Amino acid sequence: MPPPDERYPQSLKGTTMSELKIKGNLFDPAKLTPAAYDKALMSTLFNQRTLTQKPDLMVQPKDVEDVIATVNYARSIGKKVSICSGGHSWSSNHMRNDSILLDMHYFNTFEINREAQTAVAGPATDGGDLLKAAMEQGLFFPVGHCKGVAIGGYLLQGGFGWNGRKLGMGCENVLGLDIVTAEGELLHASETENSDLYWSARGSGAGFFGVVVAYHLKLHPKPKYIRTMMHFYKMEHLEGVYRWAAEIGPDIPAAAEFQILMTQKTALFMGPGLEVMTPIFADSRDELEETKKILNSCPIRNKAFLRLPCLPSNMSLFYRGVMAHYPHDHCYDVDNIWTSASIDELMPHLKEMGRTIPAAPTHMLWLNWYPPKNRPDMAFSMEDNIYIALYNIYKGDNHSAERKLWATNTVRKMAHLSSGLQLADENLNHRTGKFMADENMAKLRTIREARDPGALFNEWHSKPEMVKA
Ligand SMILES: Cc1cc2nc3c(=O)[nH]c(=O)nc-3n(C[C@H](O)[C@H](O)[C@H](O)COP(=O)(O)OP(=O)(O)OC[C@H]3O[C@@H](n4cnc5c(N)ncnc54)[C@H](O)[C@@H]3O)c2cc1C
Repeated sequence: MPPPDERYPQSLKGTTMSELKIKGNLFDPAKLTPAAYDKALMSTLFNQRTLTQKPDLMVQPKDVEDVIATVNYARSIGKKVSICSGGHSWSSNHMRNDSILLDMHYFNTFEINREAQTAVAGPATDGGDLLKAAMEQGLFFPVGHCKGVAIGGYLLQGGFGWNGRKLGMGCENVLGLDIVTAEGELLHASETENSDLYWSARGSGAGFFGVVVAYHLKLHPKPKYIRTMMHFYKMEHLEGVYRWAAEIGPDIPAAAEFQILMTQKTALFMGPGLEVMTPIFADSRDELEETKKILNSCPIRNKAFLRLPCLPSNMSLFYRGVMAHYPHDHCYDVDNIWTSASIDELMPHLKEMGRTIPAAPTHMLWLNWYPPKNRPDMAFSMEDNIYIALYNIYKGDNHSAERKLWATNTVRKMAHLSSGLQLADENLNHRTGKFMADENMAKLRTIREARDPGALFNEWHSKPEMVKA
């Protein structure tokens, strides 16, 4: 692979400057009406919750030279830097006071090398676009489950994607990254080059201390059999369904993404209940049959009010099905736990959720995860057997605090059963918790202090007590 300076032939070392001159766009609140500035900021966000923090300037760089100029400018005037690629952080992580915001949305192009089964992609690449193009060439990548989730933030925080139980976290499929550092230097990071940055970029999420301008990705062959199975139950069967889910958890083949969605509106038009939804990505007939057998083992399956057999499916059907639960132009209060608590410990909380869950599209997701034991050494280090995530969704701001914080408050009550939280669905501006193994957090802090000694880059909204390095 050519070194970064051959791929980006601009002047690579920026100089400290008193004025920011770039080819891209500047959104300066001193030159815009407050409404126009707010509109520009909100356009970077999926979550439409009212902003509580705002950057001093928003920059949309056109190229790497613009990124370097902005980083150098921020450092020279003593401002922090925050970054967004697709703006899908639930906690609006890039909205920070006393900061310059880099909105990377022009960095949305990618190139696939079919023979090498690799891709080079800008951080604002929509995962759905990348996957579509890869599949047209017989390839696959574990991108996020909704269109619009950019690979920028998704891969940094770990990235649980389509077929991710088999293909690994998205970040395990990152071969390298091109990064602008706090010093305004463009570096390539991989297993063999700047490996401290490579280690950090795979799992630190918003705690990363550099601007990713390109990802180098490993692609996989497209799975042979893409199928789906769906069973729908009324809420009165909650206990039976979750007990079964807990029982089969360890045996569910990696080809299956077994999930249970709790909602007030099952199948989008029926009443309160549970949707047992399983996308299947099998590479052989045997694997498909084994997966079907386990998914058909529910002892109360005859109680399902609707049961779809194992049907051929495709990614556009999957996207349509999932995205119906995550409408645009809404406010989101999202929180989650990893757990390996027993089903007896979890059951009272599941029942409480069944009783209190607000109107759809609000929903709760249960995922049988059972991670593999052999992840590579990287910052990503927090996962457990069961994943529970609450997506509290409402429109407009005129609701009671209780309604607006249903997810946060419900998770607070079961936090004692949690081994940690997943950064993908973090709520760190409202509730903190452990999201990395202690030793990984300590290592990350040491690398961060060396690479960004002036703490130029903002990090997560909050973090739990860290162990001493
Ligand atoms: C509808 C929806 C569906 C989702 N589905 C999934 C899913 O299936 N699996 C999953 O794992 N997650 C999922 N997520 C969570 C999502 O992956 C994270 O919010 C992720 O951060 C989104 O990436 P982004 O670039 O769009 O986010 P952004 O909000 O742009 O970025 C989040 C943070 O990442 C950092 N960052 C972003 N870009 C850069 C960059 N170029 N350089 C340095 N730092 C950067 C910044 O700290 C930033 O604040 C979903 C989120 C939403 C809203």
